[in-house]
Amino acid sequence: MEIPTLTIDAVKEGLRARRFSATELASEALKFARAENPKTNAYLTFCDERALSAAAAVDAKLARGEDPGPLGGVPVAVKDVILTRGVRTTCGSKLLADYVPPYDATAVIRLEQAGGIILGKTNCDEFAMGSSNENSAFGPVRNPVAPHRVPGGSSGGSAAAVAQGTAVVSLGSDTGGSIRQPASFCGVAGVTPTYGRVSRYGLTAFASSLDHIGPFARTVKDSATLLRVIAGRDEMDSTSAAAPVPDYEALLDRNVRGVKIGLPREYFKGLASETGDLIASGIETLKRLGCEIRDISLPSTDYAIACYYIICTAEASSNLARYDGVRYTFRSPNSPSLGAMYRNTRGEGFGTECKRRIMLGTYVLSAGYYDAYYLKAQKVRGLIARDFTNAFAEVDAIVAPVSPFPAFKLGEKVDDPLEMYLSDIYTITGDLAGIPCMSVPCGKTAGGLPVGMQILANHFDEARMFRLADAFEKETN
Ligand code: GLN
Repeated sequence: MEIPTLTIDAVKEGLRARRFSATELASEALKFARAENPKTNAYLTFCDERALSAAAAVDAKLARGEDPGPLGGVPVAVKDVILTRGVRTTCGSKLLADYVPPYDATAVIRLEQAGGIILGKTNCDEFAMGSSNENSAFGPVRNPVAPHRVPGGSSGGSAAAVAQGTAVVSLGSDTGGSIRQPASFCGVAGVTPTYGRVSRYGLTAFASSLDHIGPFARTVKDSATLLRVIAGRDEMDSTSAAAPVPDYEALLDRNVRGVKIGLPREYFKGLASETGDLIASGIETLKRLGCEIRDISLPSTDYAIACYYIICTAEASSNLARYDGVRYTFRSPNSPSLGAMYRNTRGEGFGTECKRRIMLGTYVLSAGYYDAYYLKAQKVRGLIARDFTNAFAEVDAIVAPVSPFPAFKLGEKVDDPLEMYLSDIYTITGDLAGIPCMSVPCGKTAGGLPVGMQILANHFDEARMFRLADAFEKETN
C-alpha cells in the first residue's frame, strides 16, 4: 500500500481487489501521518477512534456487497476551523485550545456519508487569518517540499498533508486565497468553489461574505470528486445555493479545443521571474491543447487588496466578538470584574494578527469612518465583480498566476504585515467576486519550488474549470 501516492481510484481499486481493507488502510494511514508529522506539524489532532469506526463501517458495507460511496475508505484531513463533533477544533487559536464542538459541519457529515475517513484536524493560521501558517498558536507548518519554507496559508496544514501524502484529499477554507495559495506553494490542486456552492454550516466564521470550504487533492479529478460530495444546498446554511451539482468527474476528459481563455493583463505585473516563466509555459500548453488565448483587462484589480482588507477585517471584528471567555473559550483567571475578564481573555487569547484585524475592522466600521472605508470598499467590491462579469461575456475562463512568488522562507514576512497581505493580490479578487477558482500545479522553479496556475470561471461553472485543469494536468503530467 503506497499511501503517499494513493488516489481515490487507487483506494477503490485496492479495496475491490482486497489488497487491503478500509480498516487496514486507516490504521496504516494514521501510523504514517503520525510518523511524518514532526517534519511538517501539519496535524494538530488525530482522531483514531472516529477514523477506525468509519473504516469499519466501510468494510461492513463492502462485506455486504454494498457501495461504500464515492469516498469509500479514503483517508481525509480536515482544516481545524471546520467543526467535528467530539473532536477538538482549535481554529489555530489558544482561545479554542480545548474546544470540543457538539456538532459536525455539514461538509464533514457529507464526506463521512460518502465513506471518507477523517484521520485528523490540520493546522492553520489563527481563525484562518494569514498567508503563511505562521499565525497558528500551535507553531507554523513547514512546507513538505522545502522544510525551511512556509506551506502558504491559511490552510497550510491541509495542503501539506496532501502534498506529504498523509491524506489522499483534505478540506480547507478560503476567504482570500487560503486554499489556492497553499496549494500552489505545496504543489497540489486546490479549489475555491462558487460562493454558496458548499454549505458553511460548522465552518468557524472569519469573514462571512467571503468564506468558502473547498478541497485539496493530488489530482484534479480527486478534487472534483470531493467537491461533488460536499456541494449542494443545505437547509442549515441560508447562503448555500440550490443550484444543481453536476457530476464533475463525468464531464472531465473532454477536449478543450476552442475554449476561450482570458489573460488579465493586470495579473502579470511584478511576478517573480521564474513564476512568470512557468505560467507563460502553462499558457503555451493551453494553446497547444487548442484553447484560444486573449488578453483581457480587469481594471479594478489595483484596489483589491485595500478592498479585501477592509471588508474582511470589518466582518472579522464582528465575528470574533463571540470569543469573550463566557461561552466557548478559555477564560483568563483572576479578573476582578466582568470587563476585566473580557479584556484579559481576549488580550491573552488572541494572537497578534487577530488583534490587528479586530482593531482595523472596528475602526473601519466606526461612526464617521464607515462611509469613508467600509461603504467605499463595498462599492469597489461591486466594481471588481463587474470586471469579471464583463470578462466572462467575452471569454469562458480566465488564467492567471496564484501568487506573485513561490513559497517564501519561514520568518521572511512575519514582521511586515503589508508585505504578507500583498502575497494575496491574485487570489482575493475571486473571493470578492464569489466565482469559482482553483490552483493547478504548473511546474517547479530551478530550486524545486512548486508554482500553481490559477483558473477562474463564471459563477457555478466549476465543471468547465475542472475540465480545463484536468486537460492541463494530463498534458503536463
Ligand atoms: N491571506 C488572506 C488573509 O489573511 C486569506 C486568508 C483566507 O483565505 N482565509 O486574510
